[in-house]
Amino acid sequence: MTLKYKTKAFVFRKNNINESDRVFSVFSDDFGRLDIFAKAIRKNASKLRSGIDIFFMSEIEFIQGRNKKTLTDAVVIDKFNNLYQDLEKFKIASRIGEILDNFIKGEEKDEDIFNLINEIFYKLNDQDLKIKKDALIYYYFLWNALSLLGYHLEVQKCASCHEKLNPYNIYNFCPTGQPVASQQASGGNYINPAISLRSLEATFNLRETAQESQSDGDFYFSSKEGGIICGNCANIKKTEGPEPCRRINSDIVKILRIILSKDWQTMSKLKIEPYSKRLLEDISENVIHTFCPS
Ligand SMILES: [Zn+2]
Repeated sequence: MTLKYKTKAFVFRKNNINESDRVFSVFSDDFGRLDIFAKAIRKNASKLRSGIDIFFMSEIEFIQGRNKKTLTDAVVIDKFNNLYQDLEKFKIASRIGEILDNFIKGEEKDEDIFNLINEIFYKLNDQDLKIKKDALIYYYFLWNALSLLGYHLEVQKCASCHEKLNPYNIYNFCPTGQPVASQQASGGNYINPAISLRSLEATFNLRETAQESQSDGDFYFSSKEGGIICGNCANIKKTEGPEPCRRINSDIVKILRIILSKDWQTMSKLKIEPYSKRLLEDISENVIHTFCPS
C-alpha cells in the first residue's frame, strides 16, 4: 500500500530535472524539510503547476515511494506576490532560501522554524515594508533561525570571560559634566567623551555618523568564541588564537540584542548608518561561514 501525506509547506528551492520534471525543497509544518519530486510539472497541461512554485506557501499532498516522495496535489495558501514585483525583496527571499537549504538537511519537524518562516515572509511581502527594513529582515531571520537551530551566540555577556557587556550606559556622569568610566559596568571599556551624552538616549537610538560608530565602545565578535567578546579578552585572543576577532561597535551589540529578543517593533524603528550595516553584514557572513554544515 502506498502511503499518502498532506501538509502545509513553504517552498524555498526548486530544481529542474529531466525534460519536464522538478524537485521542490520545502519546509513543512509536519515533517520539516522535504525534497519532493514533481513529475511533468513543467508541462503546460500539468494540474500541479499552479499550486506550487518558489516562495509559495502551499498545502501539498505526496506519496512516499521506495526512494522518493512524489507530489500528487498542491493548493496555494499564499503566493507572496509582492516578492515577484520587487527585485530587492526577491533577493532577500533568495538569501533566506539559501540559509534554509544550507542549514537544514534532514527531515525533522520544527514548529518554531516553521513559524519563523511564516512570520518573515508575511512581513517581507508587506508593501509598507521599505527597502531598508527589507535588508534588516534578512538578519532578523538569520540570527533567529541559527538560534532556533541550536547555534547559541552570546550577546549579553562576554562569550569568553562572561562579564556583562553594557553598550547602553558605558559612562557615569560627575557633577562637572565630565564623563567618568564606570569600570564595573563597562568591564574595562575605554572612554570616548564625544559619545557620552548619546549613551543616555533611548536604547534604540543608534549612532548617526560614521565617526561615532567607528570609535564607539570596545566590543569584538568571534563566531568561534561563541559571540561578542570584550576588549580585554579580544586582546588576549589576538596573540593566542589563529581566528581574528572582528571589532564591532555598540550599535551592533544593541542590534543583535533587539534581533534575538524578536523585538520587531523596535527593529522597525531602527536607523542604521552604513558603517554599522557593513559590520552587521561582515559578522553575519562570518557566522554562516563558521557554522554552515555544507
Ligand atoms: Zn571578556
